[in-house]
Amino acid sequence: MTDLAFFDPRILEKYNTSGPRYTSYPTALEFNSQFTNQDFTDAIEKSNTTDLSLYIHIPFCHSLCYYCGCNKVVTRHADKADDYLDYLLQEIKYRASSCSNKVIRQLHLGGGTPSFLSKEQLTRLIVCLKQHFDFAQNAELGIEIDPREIKTDLIDHLYHLGFNRLSIGVQDTNPKVQKAINRPQSFGFISDLIARAQTVGFKSVNIDLIYGLPHQTISTFTQTLEDVKVLNPDRISLFSYAHLPSRFAAQRKIRDEWLPNAIEKFALMKLAIQQLSEQGYDLIGLDHFAKPYDELALAQQQGKLHRNFQGYTTQKDCNLVGLGVSAISKIDNVYSQNHKQLKDYYQAISQQSQAVEKGLLLSKDDKIRQYVISELMCNLSVDKQQVETLFDIEFESYFADALKSLVVFENDQLVCNTQQQINVAPKARLLIRNVCMSFDAYMKNHLNQNRFSKLI
Ligand code: SF4
Repeated sequence: MTDLAFFDPRILEKYNTSGPRYTSYPTALEFNSQFTNQDFTDAIEKSNTTDLSLYIHIPFCHSLCYYCGCNKVVTRHADKADDYLDYLLQEIKYRASSCSNKVIRQLHLGGGTPSFLSKEQLTRLIVCLKQHFDFAQNAELGIEIDPREIKTDLIDHLYHLGFNRLSIGVQDTNPKVQKAINRPQSFGFISDLIARAQTVGFKSVNIDLIYGLPHQTISTFTQTLEDVKVLNPDRISLFSYAHLPSRFAAQRKIRDEWLPNAIEKFALMKLAIQQLSEQGYDLIGLDHFAKPYDELALAQQQGKLHRNFQGYTTQKDCNLVGLGVSAISKIDNVYSQNHKQLKDYYQAISQQSQAVEKGLLLSKDDKIRQYVISELMCNLSVDKQQVETLFDIEFESYFADALKSLVVFENDQLVCNTQQQINVAPKARLLIRNVCMSFDAYMKNHLNQNRFSKLI
């Protein structure tokens, strides 16, 4: 069972400020509009990295979940997805022409709701991808599923298309909580979906859960976690609900008084970590759980965990090409993001077959800090000598300011800063984003701006 030493309410409360999730460094807030389509194409063509991940964004959803902060378009019109695919396929063909020497190791369909697409639309998309990109034999093909508007046989269809990983949005199984977030769904159906996926041969099933939702209590969430035990997924992502109604209009439907307070929210998180570890899951990084046989758990044990825009991953050496509205890419030292509004995306694709809106070419300083933050997020430690060798710097002087701001953590015995290493104590595990903020050169520009969610 997981040692819950990291769960000290006094410490968690003291450090529970707002901060980035560090799925990238620098974060997308630093991307600039001087970055062009050509910059991105040049980055792909110059890159010597042959392994590639593809991320495809499907923005449509059948209905609005009130907790949602994603980039999505809510519609009942299935034909909107046909129009979208016309543009997306154009972008895929164009982008693939620069990737003839690359091998696809991983494909992820996210959203929005990828399962908004009909079987025919999904086939059209995958046939196009396989026609234009070179997929590795053992490539991971994953898709996010909304279990509300589909039939069980979609699972068979996805498997025949080559998908081997599923991620299902469960969030909470309590009817009152589901009503408050406008996401009523059948537990029996989710259970059938997962059983079907395991029968047809899916390699891995993930479910998403959220704590901190309206009307959640220890009693209701205990039952949700018991239900999870029945579902028996390979992986679980446990997210904290970030209530930012000033930024996300949908969240204004959730009344403040329905939400658990900070102490209750801590208790829900602790309950989840405790029960899931009792069920045999390893805690991965901050917010993922995996069965000990799962590749993520093995990667963590071997110090080989990595982090990208989808969270923790085992794929170290992959570049990422994001396709579709708002999709983010990372090619070596370059980040880019497509237009976020559908009409801008359509216009850009019509004119140029690509739709980069902004991006960033990482400076040497960005790369050094990216390395340090990634090591902390994935391995809870940084080897100073390694950083010095890799980047030809003197660690103590280069990070003099950051090291000064670590003193407060050292005083609380959360961080140990020796001559050779910075080690984050196990009890500070949930505060790792806060420790990383000390090394973030852009943080001072965002203080007091309410741009990020609370750490817990
Ligand atoms: S949570 Fe998912 S399904 Fe719900 S509105 Fe947001 S993107 Fe759509």
